[in-house]
Amino acid sequence: MSSLQTYVKDKFNQTIKESSDAELYSALLEMVHDKSRELPTNDDKKRKLYYFSAEFLIGKLLSNNLLNLGIYDDVKAELAKYGKDITDIEQVENEPSLGNGGLGRLAACFLDSISTLGLNGDGVGLNYHFGLFRQLFKDKLQFTDKDEWITGEDDWLVRSQTSYTVPFNNFELSADLYDIDVLGYQQDTRNRLRLFDLSTINEGIVGDGINFDKKDVIQNLTLFLYPDDSDHDGQMLRIFQQYFMVSAGAQLVLDEAVERGSNLHDLADYAVVQINDTHPALVIPELIRLLTERGIEFDEAVHIVENTVAFTNHTILSEALEKWAMSDLERIVPHITPIIRELDRRMKEKYPQHPYTNIIDLQDRAHMASMSIHYGFSVNGVAALHTDILKSSELRAFYEIYPEKFNNKTNGITFRRWIMDSNPELAMFLDKQIGKSWRTDSDLSKFLKFKDNKKVQKALQDIKQDNKQRLVDYLEERQGIKVNPNSIFDTQIKRIHEYKRQQMLLLYAIHKYKDIKAGNVPQTPLIIFLGGKAAPAYTTAQNILHAFLTLAEIVDGDKDVNEHLQIVVLENYDVSYAEKLIPATDISEQISLASKEASGTGNMKFMLNGAVTLGTLDGATVEINQLVGDDNSYIFGKHSNDIISLYETNGYNPQDYYQTPEIKELVDFINGEEMVAHGHKDHLDSLYHEIVSKDFFMTMIDIIEYIKVKEDMLEDYEDQSHWTSMVVENIGRAGYFSSDRTIGDYNRDIWHLESK
Ligand SMILES: *Cc1c(COP(=O)(O)O)cnc(C)c1O
Repeated sequence: MSSLQTYVKDKFNQTIKESSDAELYSALLEMVHDKSRELPTNDDKKRKLYYFSAEFLIGKLLSNNLLNLGIYDDVKAELAKYGKDITDIEQVENEPSLGNGGLGRLAACFLDSISTLGLNGDGVGLNYHFGLFRQLFKDKLQFTDKDEWITGEDDWLVRSQTSYTVPFNNFELSADLYDIDVLGYQQDTRNRLRLFDLSTINEGIVGDGINFDKKDVIQNLTLFLYPDDSDHDGQMLRIFQQYFMVSAGAQLVLDEAVERGSNLHDLADYAVVQINDTHPALVIPELIRLLTERGIEFDEAVHIVENTVAFTNHTILSEALEKWAMSDLERIVPHITPIIRELDRRMKEKYPQHPYTNIIDLQDRAHMASMSIHYGFSVNGVAALHTDILKSSELRAFYEIYPEKFNNKTNGITFRRWIMDSNPELAMFLDKQIGKSWRTDSDLSKFLKFKDNKKVQKALQDIKQDNKQRLVDYLEERQGIKVNPNSIFDTQIKRIHEYKRQQMLLLYAIHKYKDIKAGNVPQTPLIIFLGGKAAPAYTTAQNILHAFLTLAEIVDGDKDVNEHLQIVVLENYDVSYAEKLIPATDISEQISLASKEASGTGNMKFMLNGAVTLGTLDGATVEINQLVGDDNSYIFGKHSNDIISLYETNGYNPQDYYQTPEIKELVDFINGEEMVAHGHKDHLDSLYHEIVSKDFFMTMIDIIEYIKVKEDMLEDYEDQSHWTSMVVENIGRAGYFSSDRTIGDYNRDIWHLESK
C-alpha cells in the first residue's frame, strides 16, 4: 500500500477512490508535513541567514512541495489510477496573500533557492490572517474583501513552542511563532519561514470588507498586510506591525545564535540579517537594545549590528522610502528612540558635509533607508540599472561615503515554481531536448541550437497552444469568461501603478479598438489580459481598472470588433493566476517608465516560458534585452537618463504631447461619450484629467512609439517560424534569471554561509 493510501485510510477510513478532492488534499498535506519533518534543518551549520521581510508571497505549496520532495509524478500517477486529477486537488488549497507583488514574490523565490542550495537561512515575517485583500469587481469597480487562508486544520502553519514578549509604551504584546517548512529541490535538509502572530488577535473585529478599528492594536496587529495608511491611525499601525515583527525576530536571532554557540560578542559570525526593503529597518535599534540588555556595552552593540545587518533597496520611488516621525515613534516605542537619536548624532558628527544622509531630518523624522545604509554593512540594488541609478542619483551621497558597501544583485525567479510546476509540458520537452541537468544548474543554453529546427518549433507551438487552452478553461471556471484560444495572448499582470503604465496599454487598446472599427482587421485575433490589484487608497489606480473594465464591456458588445479583439481583466490576480497566465502568453508587457521599475521579475517568468518581451529599457528588462538582443525583443521608449533629467529640469509638459492629434484622440476617448455611456463619468473624468494635466509617469512621451512597435510585433507574429525562433532564443538565455544564481551571488558577496 502506498503512503498516500495509508494516510487516506488513517484519516478518513476510506480509499482514494472514495475520497473527495478536499479529503485527498488534507491527506496529502499531512503526508508532506510528515515527510518534511523527517528532514533535519540546517541549524547544525554555525552561520545562519535571517531574511527579514514584511511580505512572503509564497503561493500554494502542495504541488511545489511534492515536486521538491521528488514525489510529484508518483502521487499524480497514483491519483490518476483512481480517476483523480491532481490539478483539481491543488485547487482546494487557499493561496495566502502575504504580499503585494514583486518584493514579496522575490522573498518566496529566495527561500526556495536558499533551501535548494542547502544554505542555512530562514525567512522572518508576520502571519497576516487576511493577507493583503481579495479583489472583487462589481459594477466595473474594484471592491476589497478579507482574504482568508488559515483554516486551522489544512494549512501549512505549524505552531512552534516559541513566543516572545514585545514591549510597547505602557503595554506588552505576545508574539507566537508559527513555522512553514521550506523544502529545497531534491534536498535532504529544510529551512523554515518563521511567521509571528499576535497571541491576542481577534478576527471578529473585521466588519464589512476590510474595515476594522485601526486603533485596536491589541486585537488587530496581524490581521492585514499594509492596512490602509492614508491616515494617521493607519501609519501608526504600520509602526506597530514593523516593530512587532523585528522585535520578535531579533529575539529569535539572538536566542538561536546562542543555541548555536555564540557568546553574542561574536554574533556577526553566527548570524546575518538581510532586510528586504526598509520595512524591517527597526531591527537595527532593536538588536542594539537587546544586546545591551544582555550585558553588552552600547558601542560594542552598535559595532556588532553594523557587521550583522545588510540592506536591499527595492525602489527609487521616493514615496516608498519610509520615514517615521520621531514623535510617533516616541509614543509607540519610546525605548528605541534614544538609540535612533544616538545613531543619528554619531553620523551627523562624523559626516557633517553630507546632510542628505542624515537619519533624522529637520522635521524630526527618522529615515529608515538612511539608518539601514549607515548601520548595515551592505547595500544592494536589484538589477544592474537600478543599482547604477542608486549610486549616481538616488543614494549618491551615501555612495560617496561608502562605495564599498554598494553592490548589485539582479533578481531571479525559482525555476521550480515558474517552469517545472507551472509549465510541466515545456519542462518535459526541455528534458527531452537537452537532458535534465537544467533542472539543477538552470543552464538552458543548450536549447539555443534548436532555434531553426522545424520540429522543435512545431513542438513549442503545440505546447503554447495547450497552455492557452489550459488558461481558457481556468478562466471560464474562475471568472466565467470565454476567450478564443486561437488568438495572440498579450499580457500585463502586476500591481496597478502609474509608473508601470497600465494606462499606456489602455491607450493602445483604445487605438486597436478604433483601428478595427475603421476596418483594419488583424489576421489573428488579439486578447489583452490585464491583471493587478490597486491599493485601496490609490484613486488613479482604481480609475485605471475601471477604464479597462468599461472598455472591455464596449469591445465585447461590439460585433464588428469582438471577433478580433478582446480585453480580459483578471479578478484578484495572484500567484496561481500568474502560473496559468505566463505559460500561455505570447507578448510580455514590460512598459514601465524607464528608471522607475527597480527590476521586475514578471519579465523573467515570461521569458522563461517562451513569451517575447515588449518593453522599455528599465529594470532587469535591460538585462533581458542584452541577453537576447534587439532581434529577439521589442524595445521602445525614452531612456532612463533622459527621463531622470526631465524630472530634474521639470522638463515634461503633458500638454506638449496631448495636443498631438493622434494622442488627443486616444486620451479623449477615456471620458468620451461611449465610455461614459458604459462606465462612471466621475472616475473616467478623473483619469482623463490626471493624464492631461499631470501624467506624472509620462505615458504620452512613449505612446506613439509603443503603438508602432507593438503593431510591428503583431505583424511579426504571423511568421510563426521566425516568432518561434525568438521564443527559443528567450528560453535558451533565461538561465541567468534563476534565483539560484541570485542567491549564489548573495552568498558569495554578502552572506558567506557554509554551502553543502
Ligand atoms: C512575479 C509576480 C509579481 C511581480 O510582477 P512584476 O511584473 O515584476 O511587477 C507580482 N505578483 C505576482 C503574483 C507575481 O507572481
